[in-house]
Amino acid sequence: MPADGAHRRPSPGTPAGAPGDVVLVGAGPGDPDLMTVGGLRALAEADVVVTDRLVPLAALDAVRPDAQVVDVAKIPGGPSTGQDAIDALLVEHALAGRRVVRLKGGDPFVFGRGGEEAIACARAGVPVRVLPGVTSSVSGPALAGIPVTHRGLTQGFTVVSGHVPPDHPDSTVDWKAVASTGTTIVVLMGVRTLGAIAEALVGGGLDPDTPAAVVADAGLPSQRRVDGTVATIARVAADAGIGAPAVTVVGRVVEALPLEPAPVV
Ligand code: SAH
Repeated sequence: MPADGAHRRPSPGTPAGAPGDVVLVGAGPGDPDLMTVGGLRALAEADVVVTDRLVPLAALDAVRPDAQVVDVAKIPGGPSTGQDAIDALLVEHALAGRRVVRLKGGDPFVFGRGGEEAIACARAGVPVRVLPGVTSSVSGPALAGIPVTHRGLTQGFTVVSGHVPPDHPDSTVDWKAVASTGTTIVVLMGVRTLGAIAEALVGGGLDPDTPAAVVADAGLPSQRRVDGTVATIARVAADAGIGAPAVTVVGRVVEALPLEPAPVV
């Protein structure tokens, strides 16, 4: 029996000995209405669902009662150090003939490590496919009334990770170049590093008066938005007690629309 206690049996409807597979499903930012139809179908068909912390819990309502749900946030060491363990889990279940859904927040290929999981499956000979999801980099701003592009204001948007601050040896982002793209700038995983990032953007030539907003818990009942400029946004967010998960948007689009934030169902 596998370490996680799953029974080695094919699911109802799966012929004995048939190979399993892995579907990487994007669960969207938090509101279960933002799951895709295909994602819900895959969930309903799954024998095993491997989830993480950022997945909307209500999405799991679609899972069959006899399916096994594994929360990998609970794997010792956490999801970042546990990636090998997660890869091994997906492969092991699929090789045992089970239909596996790897459910991930947002889109699996946007800072989601879905690529690594796809490679691990392919190496093990496990069929793997991706069902893209609604990424928080676009939907987080949208749910708070901010379009990432707007005709006449910007011809693009740049999405960057703020996981490590600009001066960190592991940072590979050219923040000076980001500052001068003329596009909307969207920062994920950048709550802790927001001060350093804003400083790097202004240091890179971005007008300190450029509007900026932080949207936290997008798509959840606890959704919040705070506004400032690139020069003030770190302080504004800190004073408001904004925590992860949150998306920061920098650019004139922040002030483009007279929209109220979308209601969360
Ligand atoms: N694959 C995900 C991103 C994973 S990285 C996607 O496509 O959305 C995790 C980061 O995503 C968080 O630190 C935060 O910046 C952002 N994020 C995810 N869910 C969010 C939410 N509901 N509201 C705001 N930001 C969110």
